[in-house]
Amino acid sequence: MLPIIARRETTQSGATPGTGSAPRTEPQDELSIGGSANGRLRICELYASIQGEGRLTGMPSVFVRTSGCNLRCWFCDTPFASWHPEGDYLQAEDVVEQCLGFGLDHVVITGGEPMLFPSIATLCHGLKQQGCHVTIETAGTVWRDTPCDLMSISPKLRSSAPRGADSTWVRAHHARRERLEIVRRMMNQFDYQLKFVVDAPADALEVLEYIQRLGEVDREHVLLMPQGTDTATLDRQAQWLIPWCRRHGFRFCPRAHIGWFGNQRGT
Ligand code: SF4
Repeated sequence: MLPIIARRETTQSGATPGTGSAPRTEPQDELSIGGSANGRLRICELYASIQGEGRLTGMPSVFVRTSGCNLRCWFCDTPFASWHPEGDYLQAEDVVEQCLGFGLDHVVITGGEPMLFPSIATLCHGLKQQGCHVTIETAGTVWRDTPCDLMSISPKLRSSAPRGADSTWVRAHHARRERLEIVRRMMNQFDYQLKFVVDAPADALEVLEYIQRLGEVDREHVLLMPQGTDTATLDRQAQWLIPWCRRHGFRFCPRAHIGWFGNQRGT
């Protein structure tokens, strides 16, 4: 049994999100992040908790958080997996073994952007062979041929661009954030949910425009989740977003884990 990557109790906001400070690195070729991993995945945390977002809210799950992202959202609540990636490189087989050690059958592979790593396919195959239900949480910008039970796609809207950051990252973010052909392919191949982070009414309107461009979309699969990392902000956003979702046939998606645990790493 390999050592479990420690669950850390520091607040996420203790790290520096993309709201002001310029990123330390230039935008890389996005696929080079995973390509240079030599068949491994960079993992910044691996822990057991309860799914707090989306269709499987309430499900006890193991979370595998890969480190590294091709985007730089200003509201990113995991800067240790995007702006300032950290963590060790592990073989997919070792990650499977650590997951099984928790004795849960639901595994959520999240990030960062887990689809940057080619070996995500080995990881998912290994988990499926052991009877696990696998969710992949992705922004839908990179395609990998991998097994998956629920593809949780979170396309990023215009307003997600980094604020006050170096303009090269702003340009890279906008050039990469929307890949309709990849999102369509994921929707065709997998059971899916489309989960949008919404910060203001203009974002909700952009969701309408987005799904129109996407084509045939069952609105039952579309979830709108308020932006915010504290319950006061989320409650304020819910005031307008819940009735808006009802009017348009979308599902409102609470961030239940913020209420349960606060904005803590390892939850
Ligand atoms: S896509 Fe996700 S992990 Fe990457 S910067 Fe945006 S919110 Fe953070």
